[in-house]
Amino acid sequence: MEKYLFINPEARVNQAIPNLGLAYAATSLGVKVIDLNTLSSPPDRYLKVEAETLGISVQSRTLSEAKKIARKYKEKFPHATIKSVSGFLDVLCCYPYMDFDNRIHFAEPFSDEYPFPNYELFDSFPKFQKNWKSGKWQYVVMTSQGCPYQCIYCSSRNRKWLSRSAENSIEELRRAKERWGIKSFNIIDDCFNINKQRLLKFCELVKPLNLSWACANGLRADLFDEEIARAITEAGCKHISFGVESSDPDVLKQIKKGETIEHLETAIKTAKRYAQSVSGFFIIGLPGSSYEKDLFSLRWAERLGIIAHFSYYVPSDKVLEADQIFYGRDAEPVSDIYPKNMQKKVYRMTAGMRPGFSWRKLARKVKGLFK
Ligand code: SF4
Repeated sequence: MEKYLFINPEARVNQAIPNLGLAYAATSLGVKVIDLNTLSSPPDRYLKVEAETLGISVQSRTLSEAKKIARKYKEKFPHATIKSVSGFLDVLCCYPYMDFDNRIHFAEPFSDEYPFPNYELFDSFPKFQKNWKSGKWQYVVMTSQGCPYQCIYCSSRNRKWLSRSAENSIEELRRAKERWGIKSFNIIDDCFNINKQRLLKFCELVKPLNLSWACANGLRADLFDEEIARAITEAGCKHISFGVESSDPDVLKQIKKGETIEHLETAIKTAKRYAQSVSGFFIIGLPGSSYEKDLFSLRWAERLGIIAHFSYYVPSDKVLEADQIFYGRDAEPVSDIYPKNMQKKVYRMTAGMRPGFSWRKLARKVKGLFK
């Protein structure tokens, strides 16, 4: 019998992004992980492994799944203790981690003391490695955590910014390249460019690794400039993203973004001069918005020629309801700011602007429906 077994429940989105918080926890205890998000089948395979303690990584989006797993495991192994696993990270992909009453919690602050995540402990590892090696999926790395800004919808807001050194982050990437053959990586910090000197150092050190990379999130437009654009692209960054949220100045004020349309336009235009592609993240249904304003954001993104990711309103942790999904296949409108059917309309209209969307595939699907 195993002492511990950890589980990553199915979240239905972000299959190419490993549960980083759980990876840190598993690495520090040397525990195996059944990863139902990246490898959803067979869904009940955790019932084949008996452990004294089952640790489940719970995020708001996986709360029901986590409870279901706990119930089934207890039915099969009545003597097992069920705990949530938390700590290391507070938020991943906009969704905060949560706890059961009984928990395994790691309280170490984010720093160079964190272990490099050992994804070989995940049973989905062969799938990750295959996709990393082929360059289809990017390795994800978090070089800092937290954000002092106040954006009202964001679970990462108002949290002390803690960072790893540039050297330590590069060492993780160097080892991932050597050990697992990664071809590219993606930075998923809450706010990567708070400390410009650290960012420039990172660029200087990452260049010799010859990896292609992207800043998926974490670049604030008002802290972005030509020097950063040049440094990150010369160091291999091909794709730059900004959190835009809305192109309406009043909405930006209401959500306490702390940025103006001028900041956003200047940053995007600068980034476009250097990067292969630039994208913006937008939110449908923000406080103060309307159908017309959200449509205007869509046109604004088209005018600037960026890839646009539209999600539904992301309520911050205080008002977050379990299992709400803000983007992806099963996403539904969250806010009541204007009729939900109109919010769905905007979401559908933006489908073609998302990367990976194929009009040809959609046409095939629609044709199939009328056969
Ligand atoms: S700047 Fe980004 S990470 Fe910080 S609070 Fe705003 S949305 Fe969240």
